[in-house]
Amino acid sequence: MKIIDRLNEDKIHISFEVFPPKTDAGFEKVLEATDQIASLKPSYISVTYGAGGGTSKNTARIASHIKEDLGVLSLAHLTCASSTKEEVRQVIANLKQLGIENILALRGDIPEGMVFPTGDRFRYAWELVEEIRMHGDFCIGAACYPEGHVENEHKADDIRYLKQKVDSGVDFLTTQMFFDNDIHYNFLYRIREAGITVPVLPGIMPITSASQMKRSQELSGTVFPRRFLSLLDRFGNYPDAMMQAGIAYATDQIIDLLANGVKNIHIYSMNKPDVAAKIMENLSEIIQC
Ligand SMILES: Cc1cc2nc3c(=O)[nH]c(=O)nc-3n(C[C@H](O)[C@H](O)[C@H](O)COP(=O)(O)OP(=O)(O)OC[C@H]3O[C@@H](n4cnc5c(N)ncnc54)[C@H](O)[C@@H]3O)c2cc1C
Repeated sequence: MKIIDRLNEDKIHISFEVFPPKTDAGFEKVLEATDQIASLKPSYISVTYGAGGGTSKNTARIASHIKEDLGVLSLAHLTCASSTKEEVRQVIANLKQLGIENILALRGDIPEGMVFPTGDRFRYAWELVEEIRMHGDFCIGAACYPEGHVENEHKADDIRYLKQKVDSGVDFLTTQMFFDNDIHYNFLYRIREAGITVPVLPGIMPITSASQMKRSQELSGTVFPRRFLSLLDRFGNYPDAMMQAGIAYATDQIIDLLANGVKNIHIYSMNKPDVAAKIMENLSEIIQC
């Protein structure tokens, strides 16, 4: 089944994300976390893609396991910046052979030291979207950035390029993490005005430790609102309390989004089934509405 068909149903959908292990040694542990997350019956589980090596190979393996063994829809991420066009085509062929119907098409971050674009590579995600379209009847998702992508100085340019990406054949979008819902509402308004009509899943990251917050900020360049910072200031040194507070903050963000008409939510569950389970428990009645 294609994710877009599910997103178009008139009900609330919650999806989760897992990331593959860096080495084969960690594979079983990730599978265990994935199995527990699947038992929460999310609408789908996405599997991130690392730049080359073991993690990229494992994305297809885990996405196939989710679909075939756990009976849950899976979304395989695919990035193109660190691979040649031919390597990317091989990954697409492998996903097709495994019966994976849903791909999140991404450029990926530019590898350090690389002058981009270089050699025989796709330059932007929209080119990858076009390539995937040529190889089969996939449902294709892509990324978007409510606070603007870090490489782009002007939001207006970012939205113009996003429109080009969507027009190349994107079925739905998932946002970068954000911690202030007003930023998301403003972004939605601007992209709808720009003629982007596909479903947009807000990406919610439950922050459960101070170190995770630091990593998230480095990764996404996101702005943390004062309300979140005071919570971190008060509970950051108490791991159990910070875990509770982070889950409550993410839950609160989700409830506000759902109350304001958002139907589909993606949770960056980061291989943490306990966090995913707690959020689902907090939403148990709400997602029935
Ligand atoms: C939901 C989500 C999931 C992700 N999953 C992964 C993952 O699994 N693995 C991973 O390595 N990374 C992942 N990332 C990170 C992502 O790869 C990086 O943010 C990357 O820098 C941009 O990827 P993109 O697909 O958004 O690129 P693009 O859409 O190609 O955009 C990249 C930049 O180029 C600009 N641009 C686009 N088109 C043009 C054009 N025609 N002319 C000039 N400029 C243009 C854009 O405005 C933007 O600044 C994810 C991000 C998100 C939000």
